[in-house]
Amino acid sequence: MSHEFMSDKDDKNPLEEMQKQFQEMLRNQGSGAFFTQPPPGKSPGASAGSGTEENTSEKQREIIKRIRDFNLKPREVKDYLDRFVIQQNEAKKVLSVAICDHYNHVRQCLETPSLTEKEYAKQNILLLGPTGVGKTYLMRCIARLIGVPFVKADATKFSETGYVGHDVEDLVRDLVKAADGNVDLAEYGIIYIDEIDKIAAQGQQGTRDVSGRGVQINLLKLMEESEVNRNSQTDIMGQMQAMMEMQRGGRPGKRTINTRHILFIVSGAFGTLGENVKKRLESSRIGFAQAGGSTEKTAVEYLPQAETTDFIDFGFEPEFVGRLPVRVACSPLTRSDLEEILTQSEGSILDQYKTDFRGFGIECEITHDAVSEIAARADSEKTGARGLMTVLEKIFRNYKYELPSTSIKKVIITGEAVKSPEDALQALLADNQSSQRDLLAGEIRQFAERFYRAHGMELAFEDDAIAALVGESLKTDKTMRALCESRFRDFQHGLKLIARNTGQTRFSISAKTAKNPDAELSQWVLQSYRRSGSEKAKESGS
Ligand code: ADP
Repeated sequence: MSHEFMSDKDDKNPLEEMQKQFQEMLRNQGSGAFFTQPPPGKSPGASAGSGTEENTSEKQREIIKRIRDFNLKPREVKDYLDRFVIQQNEAKKVLSVAICDHYNHVRQCLETPSLTEKEYAKQNILLLGPTGVGKTYLMRCIARLIGVPFVKADATKFSETGYVGHDVEDLVRDLVKAADGNVDLAEYGIIYIDEIDKIAAQGQQGTRDVSGRGVQINLLKLMEESEVNRNSQTDIMGQMQAMMEMQRGGRPGKRTINTRHILFIVSGAFGTLGENVKKRLESSRIGFAQAGGSTEKTAVEYLPQAETTDFIDFGFEPEFVGRLPVRVACSPLTRSDLEEILTQSEGSILDQYKTDFRGFGIECEITHDAVSEIAARADSEKTGARGLMTVLEKIFRNYKYELPSTSIKKVIITGEAVKSPEDALQALLADNQSSQRDLLAGEIRQFAERFYRAHGMELAFEDDAIAALVGESLKTDKTMRALCESRFRDFQHGLKLIARNTGQTRFSISAKTAKNPDAELSQWVLQSYRRSGSEKAKESGS
């Protein structure tokens, strides 16, 4: 591709100038200064690409104002988190303080730019704890509360060079995407890196993982302060776009992103770290054996006592740990915590299911029994609150498929339904069949009433006729109204003839008639003529 492009030799080709700039740009990679000025002679503002000031100034002002007005207190942040996140009180408190400090500092720097010259230890956070206990959720809630963009990635996808796997700087660029191209906003965002314990890698075999170390050092640079190019070296399209924007005379937005105020959260399960802390504490207690006599604690429960040396022994660079001054552990969730998540947490996964059903006009209710059964099942999955998603998905899978196409407007999930969802669903559908039949039978009566009002003729549907029409409506998926109106179209004309001949205005509709009304009607009409003929003969004979 690029070869073809480079070999295109035409002196008048406007691409040539672009090509030169492109090569120049590749040479300038990393300088961060290449696009900061519009080219001479071009009037700025002729075109507004994404990220230009014209596009974003309104939004920018709003967000910067929000950060400038940041005045939340740690208790207020915690109150907000309590609405969504169950338990994790220690983490909530520590995070609330760290977040307030961080955004207060950002605000002060905006108010007094000279403050940025001063040394400030950023409140980057290390979150420990098993999977699915709310670590990411806490940070997402915080980002939403403050209104800053948030990105999450797994540390394992990064490589030291970025040639294989991703480059850590991609995270900063992703933050710009999360901020709809607004670099100013991205510069106050939150970057969350999970599975950080996987790149600590003192290695099961005892050898320190070289690439993991490289990634740590790259991250370290970002956590301190660096300027990241908006377009990565491998993002040729992005670079071309930026260049074309410049060619058109557009005013380029900021070409680099400063990471000074970006908050970094790293997290991981740190399973074996807990073991190590346990060993350390136990060995320091030798001689005081059984002193505490406390009950046996699991490895996870030792995480809150992890110290800097434990992290270094685990395989982290001392400088890296040093840049993560705020450390807090989230606890595993118990079965009753899982119940509480289902019933108390605002916007819980269960609420999502209810909202999905409501989208089809179906009300979904969950009994207390069902909640405890769901929690028990989720608990045995050992994936924290993620287990709830797995369990709920299994329960609701077929309900979500079947119910929207039925007349069912309410579903109650009981403990039994959680145990055998398919049986419960089939029972519900069977129950509904009879109520659906009642509904359709009612519609036949309504048709007869309309017919009477319009034509003065009474159609008396017999039971077998009703059953036949209901069966047909269900089978053909036609509404009863449409079925009756097409089946008995123009029926009144024949009936009126009969009424004139015999005075009859009430007609019984059997299953046979309902199946083929026109054939029956012809018979009736004929009979009515015969009857009226013989009556006339009788009259004239008498
Ligand atoms: P992790 O600890 O692995 O980062 P997450 O925060 O991503 O786990 O949790 C996954 C989902 O489970 C969340 O989006 C949220 O819906 C739910 N969840 C997890 N922990 C809690 C909690 N403590 N309170 C309420 N919901 C939670």
